[in-house]
Amino acid sequence: MKKNEIYTVECIDDTNLGSGVARIENQVVFIPRAMKGEKLDTRIVKVDKRYAFGKIEKLIEPSQHRVESACEVERLCGGCQLQYMDYPAQLDLKHRHVSRLFKNVNENIEVEFPIGMEEPFYYRNKAQFPVQVKDGQVLMGFYRQHSNDIIPCKECKIQSKEINEIYQYIQEKIRVSQAKGLRHIFIRTSNTEAQVVFIGKFENNFKPLINGLTAKFPQITSIVFNKNLRKDNVILGDQEKVLFGRNYLIQECLGNKVELHFKSFYQVNSSQMEKLYKTAIESAQLSRDMTCVELYSGVGTIGMTVSKYVKKVIGVEIVKEAVANAKRNCKLNNITNCEYICEDASIFAKKAKEKGLKIDVLFVDPPRKGMTDQGIQDIVCLNPKQVIYVSCNPDTLARDLKVFEKEGYTCSVVKPVDMFPQTTGLECVAVLKKD
Ligand code: SAH
Repeated sequence: MKKNEIYTVECIDDTNLGSGVARIENQVVFIPRAMKGEKLDTRIVKVDKRYAFGKIEKLIEPSQHRVESACEVERLCGGCQLQYMDYPAQLDLKHRHVSRLFKNVNENIEVEFPIGMEEPFYYRNKAQFPVQVKDGQVLMGFYRQHSNDIIPCKECKIQSKEINEIYQYIQEKIRVSQAKGLRHIFIRTSNTEAQVVFIGKFENNFKPLINGLTAKFPQITSIVFNKNLRKDNVILGDQEKVLFGRNYLIQECLGNKVELHFKSFYQVNSSQMEKLYKTAIESAQLSRDMTCVELYSGVGTIGMTVSKYVKKVIGVEIVKEAVANAKRNCKLNNITNCEYICEDASIFAKKAKEKGLKIDVLFVDPPRKGMTDQGIQDIVCLNPKQVIYVSCNPDTLARDLKVFEKEGYTCSVVKPVDMFPQTTGLECVAVLKKD
């Protein structure tokens, strides 16, 4: 196989990241944006020892699931890796990928078909738009893939319509004097409220913009300035000043009101989140006499719902703003059997073991990197009868399930929920029981 040569191939497989897989002269070739079953001409762009990479030169027999993307910057931004296929094909791709992944952990694991969305666009409730001043002009939009260049665009197809409207208004009205020193504009929405956070090195005169925003969007209940002098790419800094209303937003989750500081984590797809938590809670066999622990509890969304079925819930979370929200949220919803602790999950587990805490069901919902082996050992020491592992990264979930299996926790079923249509992301609930 030679670089720059064109070959006619048929894709025999595809990858979870959105590449077709073909074979040329017994070597595997990955072709970004090609679909399984497609016949095409590919131009080879790179040949490594084990793999080669090609690009689509001409589609000869396109898949019936291929679609024109509706987004003008789809290829530049790179946020939606799967927009070139229709939604049923996206779900099918994700299902095949996780089936393979979890059968590799234990071939008895049942991997259900992902629960999808009816309308797989305009779903995100949070956006962080980078802002720069360049050549006397304000640039606001999305980063070009793998760079810090901003590509301005009018609309994002996976953000809520309301976020798009607020974004467009700011993009139109913001002046150079207001954008200087700004790094990001954060917008979060719930079904009744909206919040805007200006994140930058110094506070400008945002008054005219704030007056305009609050007049046009009466649902805005919070505008904040967050000072960030950091040298790295962490978006939020430590200091905040409320410029309008309050520093939090009210969301609603499974009938509970949820107070949410802008630093607190919240699932970005509210309607799928409810399906995810319902799935997690229904998968646990809960009863009135049980004590449950929720590690990585955020603002308490899972625990508050679980609390209705059990005796006691203890939530553990490291971000202090989120713990403060969780405590207030229990009061707001008249929940008295939840306790929230601000602590590293691992330290909590050690202390709980020393105290001899008895746990029936443990819910765990870690960030993308998953758990550490030590973290899993800590859980194993606590000896819960059931573990419900909620994960936004199937790869780290599969890795962690292998460790749990060695420690005597068997996973019977994985239930995926598609929180991130158009992208390669997938959320999963894994149900583990002690042998
Ligand atoms: N269950 C919540 C939050 C899940 S996100 C929800 O669905 O809304 C993961 C959470 O873990 C975040 O809130 C993050 O702040 C928290 N976290 C990250 N590292 C942690 C650690 N070492 N100990 C405890 N919590 C941690």
